[in-house]
Amino acid sequence: MSSTRRRVRGGDREVARLRRVALDAAAAGLYVFPVQAGGKLPAVPRHSAERCRGRGICAAGHQGWEQRATRDRAQICRWWSGTGEAARFNVGIACGPSGLVVIDLDTSTDPLPGWGGATTGREVLDQLAARHGQTLPATYSTVTPTDGEHLYYRMPQGLALRNTHGGHGHSLGPLIDTRAGGGFVVGAGSIRPEGAYMVAEHGQIAELPGWLATLLTPPPAPEPRRSAPLVLSTRRANAYVAAILAGESAAVEHAAKGQRQITLLTAARTLGRLVGGGELDADNAHALLLEAAGVHIGVEGFTRAEAERTITRGLAYGARAPRRIDRRHHTDTTSGAGGSGEA
Ligand SMILES: [Zn+2]
Repeated sequence: MSSTRRRVRGGDREVARLRRVALDAAAAGLYVFPVQAGGKLPAVPRHSAERCRGRGICAAGHQGWEQRATRDRAQICRWWSGTGEAARFNVGIACGPSGLVVIDLDTSTDPLPGWGGATTGREVLDQLAARHGQTLPATYSTVTPTDGEHLYYRMPQGLALRNTHGGHGHSLGPLIDTRAGGGFVVGAGSIRPEGAYMVAEHGQIAELPGWLATLLTPPPAPEPRRSAPLVLSTRRANAYVAAILAGESAAVEHAAKGQRQITLLTAARTLGRLVGGGELDADNAHALLLEAAGVHIGVEGFTRAEAERTITRGLAYGARAPRRIDRRHHTDTTSGAGGSGEA
């Protein structure tokens, strides 16, 4: 089968189809970015954080796919406007900016002994729901070319969940990953050599049920060693805000070398949203982030000035999407996570 030579304005027909998929997703409120044609790896940016020369869009710090993901129609049209197979980008959906938690159900050929011989993440999830006396609400979902399922949920307000990996840490269970902050999924309408990503369940994206949110909420981070700003902040904030602060602070502190800039920027954006929502003082947020980044300053070219710039930029960006914590709503979530973290 030879590749089609039919061209339409702004690219070939397949590019046009994928552009439509991306525009529809953006119109539905999701932040999209190009994923390699026929693949599942981000196609932007075209340089790594380590190779970043700080030019153009990266002038004030490296911009990864999560930062570049957009709902802007003009940008989407620019991305999906080429011709030829390499230009037929699949559609990545950045979960963090989109406010999504996607439950990624995998399959295995080895039956799981602890789960009645289950071979799919779907079975594990159903058993988990049964153990908790819960059912899963209907929500938009897709199937992947390798028989996986992606269940889309909205991130409950005030939560900033990150990815989890099946069977590790506070994940839901084996064969179940979750994609949230720092994660993405390949959207329905995208193609791989094995097949297509297709909508399984049409309709609205339901909010992540509280019991799943609780299971996915990391236990509060341990008290930091030497952080006056954090203590000040936590006194002002409620426990929920404090948990977010501690989590972001720990993420920055423990960021791998190539991830320092992105992690700091992401943390600053998260805190910036809380600043914008009046949950957190801007100076405290800045001081907290700078302190967390302190372990990296002076190490392999990471400068204090650079850290300061990134923090300032991230906080300003985040403040444009203010986030307020609904305290009543999250009381049980917070205490539930604290309780299960005690073991
Ligand atoms: Zn860059």
